[in-house]
Amino acid sequence: MTTHREPFDSVLDTIGETPLVRVHASPDEVPVYAKLESFNPGASVKDRIGKYMLEQMLESGELPEGGTVVEPTAGNTGIGLAVAAGQLGIRAVFVVPERFSVEKQTLMRALGADVVNTPTEDGMGGAIDRAHQLAEELDDAVVPQQFSNPLNPEAHYETTAPEIYDTLDNEVGALVAGCGTAGTLMGMARYGREHHEETFVTAVEPEGSLYSTLHDRDVEEAPYKTEGIGTHNPDTNELFDPELVDEIVQISDRDSHAEMQRLASEEGHLVASSAAANSLAALDVAERAAAGEIDLPYDSVVTVFPDSSERYLSKGIYGDFESWEG
Ligand code: PMP
Repeated sequence: MTTHREPFDSVLDTIGETPLVRVHASPDEVPVYAKLESFNPGASVKDRIGKYMLEQMLESGELPEGGTVVEPTAGNTGIGLAVAAGQLGIRAVFVVPERFSVEKQTLMRALGADVVNTPTEDGMGGAIDRAHQLAEELDDAVVPQQFSNPLNPEAHYETTAPEIYDTLDNEVGALVAGCGTAGTLMGMARYGREHHEETFVTAVEPEGSLYSTLHDRDVEEAPYKTEGIGTHNPDTNELFDPELVDEIVQISDRDSHAEMQRLASEEGHLVASSAAANSLAALDVAERAAAGEIDLPYDSVVTVFPDSSERYLSKGIYGDFESWEG
């Protein structure tokens, strides 16, 4: 273990370089490793894109010094952007559908951002429309729009992926991650394919989500409780490239809920539902590889635990399945 001996100058300097930890339920022959993104200062994987997108947009001049970012966000991206905006002298306004957790909205406000709520039934589409409308009303405002901004996957191509490949001496057999915007998986997959073209890539979504239709699978749309991943309208998730993905798997809310509890009680991970879905999908890839059903270039599977369960305690995530609000 190396110790970082110099004090950091800014909280932004502590983003990234998160730990990669073995998931012990995985087979010895094909271990699963999870990147613990709650170690970031805003406690999620989205700190990476908050910092990266703002720094790049400031550098290119797209975002003026002292300008405003307006973003439709389910929450973690808002927190990541708010952490970065606060330190970079940028004002932040977030448009959040009501369904998303109160904790995240409270944290965004604490970081100095303004939060505007849109009705749950209008979905992310309603939040996106409102964000563009707000940006037009303001001077100097930019909508980073994580759902279509190439800087989102680029942040993971530039940071998350090289950290993983470096930690495992490039011996990465498979990458497995849930897709919300798909920025995390696409950035990692593109890095994997460019540097080690045979890396196996699995996209994860909750049952009821429609990414699978992009691989011509006949799946049924339904509401789901797993937060932060999946889509009801894959056409609006422009970053997802079906060709960068070997398979798209679905995990039920019930299985994710049980895995969330198992990860806490057996492995000491206080992680949320999307991490649990990722864990189950990664364990399944590892088991199929160990059984000889799929060929991996290396005997390892890497996934991401995007955030912490503490952010969702008010939704009853550690109670019985029925009382989990989702
Ligand atoms: N898990 C959680 C908790 C998230 O907030 C997000 C982002 N929506 C994801 C997973 C998925 O990340 P991405 O948007 O990069 O696909």
